[in-house]
Order: sequence, then structure tokens, then C-alpha cells
Amino acid sequence: MKGAESVAAAVQRAKTVVATSHVNPDGDGVGSLLAVTILLSGLGKKVYPSLPEPWKYPPQYEFLPGRESLLAPESLPGNCDVFIALDCSNLSRMEPLEQVFERAGLTVNIDHHEDNTRFADVNYVDPAASSTAELVYRVCEAASWALDGRAATCLYAGLVTDTGRFQHRNTTPSAFVLAAKLAEAGADVHGVAREIYESQSLQYVRLLGTALKRAQRLENLRLVYSYITQSDLEETGATLAEAEDLIDYLRRVKGAEVVALFKELPDGTVRVSLRSGDEVEVASIARVLGGGGHAMAAGYTSEKDLEGSIGELLERLRDRHA
Ligand code: AMP
Ligand code: MN
Ligand code: MN
Repeated sequence: MKGAESVAAAVQRAKTVVATSHVNPDGDGVGSLLAVTILLSGLGKKVYPSLPEPWKYPPQYEFLPGRESLLAPESLPGNCDVFIALDCSNLSRMEPLEQVFERAGLTVNIDHHEDNTRFADVNYVDPAASSTAELVYRVCEAASWALDGRAATCLYAGLVTDTGRFQHRNTTPSAFVLAAKLAEAGADVHGVAREIYESQSLQYVRLLGTALKRAQRLENLRLVYSYITQSDLEETGATLAEAEDLIDYLRRVKGAEVVALFKELPDGTVRVSLRSGDEVEVASIARVLGGGGHAMAAGYTSEKDLEGSIGELLERLRDRHA
């Protein structure tokens, strides 16, 4: 059975479903999760959607249909017929929900990360797909489920954000075909653009200013980077959850083959986001440093402080150039 059909068959008889995405969820994560929740609830199943700890829902996705159905991990049932992981490359990215995962009757993994560890009973993993939202759409088609405007809006949000508004290399012909199909199904195309890209807080816009002012270019390493500290967050009143697209502003610099954004966390560790300008495969850099991701968009968490984590990455990049 092909991937999409095997997922459709796996959930067909389920009465109770727990679904989740990865920690620090992005538009594809929450969009795919809420779409699956709407689709399966529409079939009469009891669906429990949740997100890993630390439970932080990005404010730019508050508008998505079904957002109010999300549950904290402690509110989940102890077991379920089917557990569905979306856009999540491995089990450690869904802590503490792997406890529910282990007790599920059947587990399903829908994802497009190349480094996905195929951790479930049914693994529908396609690295050629633009987004997990695209894979959810294929399941929906394979199973002939009715797609309403609410679910279409959620999937469209995932598609738009993971392709960088149809600009990244994963913007395949099928990504455009999907956009048309979702618009036809009633996705709120303009609303998604307004809510995600033109409804940001003034606090975040000021944080963006701080980060951009600090941007550095190291021409020999073809690197552009910047950073955000905890005191930046205090001073501006912004949160890291709303800063998902900040790194895209650093990509604007000509000659930036690697773009890095260092984000200091409350415990002093640093979350590092990497993007590739065009050529450099950043997933392998992230993997060496304990993370992972896609060829062109990857990340990791460094136990070092801000200065140390910047030094660590520069060292890695120098080694590559040596
Ligand atoms: P981000 O920079 O947080 O938007 O992440 C970019 C990509 O890298 C996403 O596809 C993430 O799923 C992946 N990623 C980020 N951090 C990690 C990590 N610690 N381990 C594995 N994958 C990661
Ligand atoms: Mn994601
Ligand atoms: Mn994704």
C-alpha cells in the first residue's frame, strides 16, 4: 500500500485519536495538526490534539480554525486507538507525549524531514513534499474525506509558511497545484496572509529591529548571522514564539550562503536556526551539533552560552572551508 493509503487505512476504524506535532511548532506543524483534527472529527472520531512541552502556541496562528480544541499534555487520555505525529522527525521532538505514543494501539508518522527516524508503525515520510500539509492533503484525497474551508485554511497556512510564501526550493509544481486546490476548497488565502504576515505585534517588529541592527556578515565564511537575548525579549516585550520568520530577513543580504539566528533561552542555552542561501546543505551542520532538519532549513540547541554557541558555529564553518 502506498503511504497516503496506508495512513487512511490505519485511521479508518479508530474511535479515539491523539495527534501532535513537534516542539516549538511552526505553521506547518500547527496547520497540519488542526487540519487532521477537523478532518477526523468530521468523520465522528474523538480527536485529542496536543503539543509537546514547553506548551507554547505561536500567536500568529491563533486565528486558525480549531485552535481552541488544543489540549495540554496532562489533559490527554492515557491511551488511544491511533496516535498521529505530524511534521515531527523523531520521538524526542514530542516530549512528553511519547508516553501516550507508547500506549497507543497504532502509531502513525506523517512528515517530510529527510532525517525522520521512521519511529511509528505506519510511516508516511516524503522528503520531496513541500510540507507536511501537502502529505495530509494526499491522505485526505486517498481516503476521499470531505475537505471543508476550515481544514483547507489550516493546510494552506502550513503550505505558505513552509515554502516561505512560495519562494523556497521546496516550492514545487505540486505546491502550486495544492494551493489552487485548497483555495478551491475554501481556504481563506487573504486571511492567512493578513493574519500571519500583517498582524504581528509592535513588540515583535521592535525586536526585529534590534536583531537586524546587530546583523554581521563574515564574507570568508559566506555567513550572515544575528542573535536575540533574553533581555531583548524583556525590553521589547516580544516572545520567541512570534519570531519564527525573523531569520528570513537575514536571508536578504547578498552573498549569504549560510544564515544563522542565535536565540538565548531562559535557561541560558541557545536555540540556533540555520538557513541555506542556495548551495550549502545546513542539515548536516545542524546534525553534527546535535540537531537536524531539512537541507535548506535546519536547527539545533547549543548547551553553550550565546558567545560560546556563536564561536562553536564559526569553528564548524571554518572547518568546512579549510
Ligand atoms: P527552525 O529554525 O526552528 O525553524 O527549524 C528549522 C528546521 O530544523 C525545522 O524543520 C525543524 O524541524 C528542524 N530542527 C530545528 N531544531 C531541531 C532539532 N533540535 N532537532 C532536529 N530538527 C530540528
Ligand atoms: Mn515544522
Ligand atoms: Mn514542515
